[in-house]
Amino acid sequence: MKKSLIIILIILLLALSSCNFNTLDSFTGDMNDRKFTHYRQSDGCFSQFIETYKGTYYLANSFVYFSSDGISEYLKLCSRPDCKHNNADCIAYVNSNSIAYYNGYIYYVSIYQGSYWLFKMNMDGTDHINVKELASIKERFTGFFEHGYLYFYKGLIGMQGNTDKFIYKIAVYDNGDAEIITDTSDIGEICMFYPQNEYLYFYVYTDEMMYSIYRYSTAQFRWEDPINIKSGPGNVFINTDKMFWYVNGEGFYEYTYETKRIEHVADSIDSGLYGVSYNDEYIYAFQYFETKYSSVSPMFYIFDRQYNLVDSVLIDIKMEDYFSSLYVTELEDIVLISTSILKRPPDYYLVKSEFGSGDITLRKNSN
Ligand SMILES: [Zn+2]
Repeated sequence: MKKSLIIILIILLLALSSCNFNTLDSFTGDMNDRKFTHYRQSDGCFSQFIETYKGTYYLANSFVYFSSDGISEYLKLCSRPDCKHNNADCIAYVNSNSIAYYNGYIYYVSIYQGSYWLFKMNMDGTDHINVKELASIKERFTGFFEHGYLYFYKGLIGMQGNTDKFIYKIAVYDNGDAEIITDTSDIGEICMFYPQNEYLYFYVYTDEMMYSIYRYSTAQFRWEDPINIKSGPGNVFINTDKMFWYVNGEGFYEYTYETKRIEHVADSIDSGLYGVSYNDEYIYAFQYFETKYSSVSPMFYIFDRQYNLVDSVLIDIKMEDYFSSLYVTELEDIVLISTSILKRPPDYYLVKSEFGSGDITLRKNSN
C-alpha cells in the first residue's frame, strides 16, 4: 500500500548541491553477477538503488548519485568542473525514476522527443545514449529491470485510463524489439508488478484493503491462481516456493505455492503501522509515522527468518516525509536509512554486526 502510494506520489524536485566526482577503480568482478542485476524486491524504494562492483548508485529527484560503499558521501555522478549540478544540463540529471545495472553500464528510462526511451550511460556518468524507443507519452509507461531485460507496461500502474494491457519484455543490451510476454486483461487493474527470476508478480487491488497477487511464469507461459491477502507490495516478499507477508495488527503469514496453504506464523509487532523487508538472514520491520505531526520516533525491529526478535532500535531523527519508508536497503554489512527516500540519497545507517547486542547505534553517513 505504502509503496504504491509512493509511486503515485513521486515528486521530482530539483536538489541544489555541488560536488566533485572521483575517478573509479577498474573492473574486477563478474560482469553478469546476478546480485547486481536483480530487481530489488526487498528495498524500501522502487528501482532507485543499485549495487555494482564499483559502488552504489542512488536516484533521487532525477539525479543519479554515487557512493563508493553506500555509506560514504553520495555525490552527483558528474565530473564536469564547470557544472553546478543543479539543472538539466548536468550529466547526473537523467529525468527518470528507475535505474539499473547490466554488464558495465547504467540503464534508465527517460522521455526524449515525445516518447519514453531506454537510455544507457557509462558507470562514471558519461556518454548518455538513447538505446530504444519504448512507448509514446500518450501510451504512458511503467517498467522494471531484471537481469538485463526491461519488463514494461504501456500505462501507469495504479492509475485510470490504461488501455494497453500487455506486458512487454525487451533486452537492454542489443537492438532487438520488445516482445509481448503476456496479456493482463483478465486479472483486473494492476497496481504494481515486478519481475523476479523467471516470474512476473502482479498486485491487483480488490477492495477492503485486499490484494490479489498473481504470478506468471515466463518459462512455462502460464498463470497461477491468485493469492488473496490483506497486504500491499511494501510488506510482501515472494520467492519461487513461498510468499511471505505481514499484516498490520495481525502478524506474519506464509503461503506455500506447492500446497496452496496459508499459515499465520507469528503475531503482530505492536499496534503501529509497519513496512516489512525480508532478507537472507533478517526480517526488518520499520514503523511509519501515522500522522504528519506525530511526535513519536519510528521503531526499527530486527527479526531472524524464524520470526524471533533479534534486536530493535529507535530511529530518533526528524523524518522529512512521514508517509514514506525510512528503510532503503540492506547491503552486506549495513542497513541504509533515509529521512526522505524520494528527495535525497540515504543519510543514515545501521551496522549489522551490532544486531543482537541490544545496543545498536544509528549512524550518520559521512559527508
Ligand atoms: Zn554536473
